[in-house]
Amino acid sequence: MKIAIIGAGLTGLTAAYKLAKEGHHITVFEKDATPGGLAAAFPVGSDHLDRFYHHVFVSDSELLELLKELSLAQELQWYEPKNAIYVDDKLHPFTSPLDLLCFKPLRFVSRIRMGLLVLRSKFIRDYRPFEHITAREWIVRRSGQDAYHKVWGPLLRSKFDVDEEKVSGTWIWNKFKLRGSSRGKNINKEQLGYLNGGFITLVHRLIDTIKGLNGTVALNTLVRAIKRLPDGHWAVETDTVTQVFDRVLFTGAPELLSFLCTDLPDNYRESIEAIKLKANLCLALELKESLSPYYWITIAQDGLPFVLIIEHTNLVGQRGYHSHVVYLSRYLDRSDPLFSASDEEITRLFLDGLKKVFPQFSMGNLKRATLSRAPYAQPVVTLGYGDRIPDIKTPLEGLYLASMPQIYPEDRGLNYAIGLGKKAADKILF
Ligand SMILES: Cc1cc2nc3c(=O)[nH]c(=O)nc-3n(C[C@H](O)[C@H](O)[C@H](O)COP(=O)(O)OP(=O)(O)OC[C@H]3O[C@@H](n4cnc5c(N)ncnc54)[C@H](O)[C@@H]3O)c2cc1C
Repeated sequence: MKIAIIGAGLTGLTAAYKLAKEGHHITVFEKDATPGGLAAAFPVGSDHLDRFYHHVFVSDSELLELLKELSLAQELQWYEPKNAIYVDDKLHPFTSPLDLLCFKPLRFVSRIRMGLLVLRSKFIRDYRPFEHITAREWIVRRSGQDAYHKVWGPLLRSKFDVDEEKVSGTWIWNKFKLRGSSRGKNINKEQLGYLNGGFITLVHRLIDTIKGLNGTVALNTLVRAIKRLPDGHWAVETDTVTQVFDRVLFTGAPELLSFLCTDLPDNYRESIEAIKLKANLCLALELKESLSPYYWITIAQDGLPFVLIIEHTNLVGQRGYHSHVVYLSRYLDRSDPLFSASDEEITRLFLDGLKKVFPQFSMGNLKRATLSRAPYAQPVVTLGYGDRIPDIKTPLEGLYLASMPQIYPEDRGLNYAIGLGKKAADKILF
């Protein structure tokens, strides 16, 4: 078959690889000049840095398997993170159970309830009862108002912004479960993985393999329309050409498919347009001096323009960056004026915020700041979400959708993008 795959992120590239291996003729279309989607990278020093910070978990089996298959397993290294939480204008260590026990902003009994909740979440298998209660109710019932107000409420707000109250219990349960699993048998020791050269190493290996199997990866090629032809084939239109395919797989945000393919039935279009995703602003700073000993700092208080401070080099070392690398991250609605503010304005706002957390930070420490914007970064998992997820097969024969919001009950991630790409390839084949 001649198969078009729209999107050179990990979902699209994994599907392309699997289908090319089965002998099909694959063309991947990617609108950006560089591949990888959310896993794209840019050069820093003599290395590459992900535009959006990434780490993986010991439970990420789809990713581990793919790395092995592509002879990249040796490039994945494991590290022990040191985490902190910023609350009441102070940084509090937040890595081990002992840190939680000493976490002064919470009453002692709340600390115990919170620790037990994280531990128990790992063993919960049936998440369906949590689909119809909010994350807030789920947390308050299990660890009390205090823990919600001091820790989890600000965290949910930081990820979902104005949609905080709409997020379902399933999402937060899954987050707890994942953090529990990243500790393996030793609950004191969390392990996070990072690929040498960044996750772009995997993206490039997939592209080389697809090309070696006679596939094509067309970068800088925006697909403008997908049209069903009377004989059942599909026309894919870009600015320069129209090509005909037997099958088309779209891997961007669902609402984009609705704009691209006007042949879709109205009720299906409405359902995919109703799936909401948050945008993300991510500022990568190359610094002369380190800011703190922590890798991951969660901001759990209002009044700062970002929600996470991630000192990437505190996890993976300085490598070829020749700098200390820090990401500042903020999730928000695409309609929020901040999302379309200029790079200079956002950078200034974020750096002012950074000075509040680290008063010793000065502009003399900054070598370079690079802002990345993702219009579709995080699905908003609302009540009853599981019942509204579209199937990979659309109502139109030969047209498929494999996109982040179809990952459930897990939250989106590199591992699940790979799993989704594999599932999409299977659906196309069988
Ligand atoms: C801030 C942030 C932090 C993250 N941290 C982690 C982490 O620590 N660990 C982890 O595992 N995951 C993390 N993720 C999630 C991970 O990056 C994603 O789950 C994964 O990269 C999604 O891959 P994808 O292929 O499904 O989507 P995408 O990467 O979004 O790929 C879709 C592609 O489709 C292209 N496209 C869309 N429309 C068109 C069109 N009309 N024509 C041509 N091309 C088109 C887009 O340009 C894009 O390249 C993070 C994400 C963000 C935003």
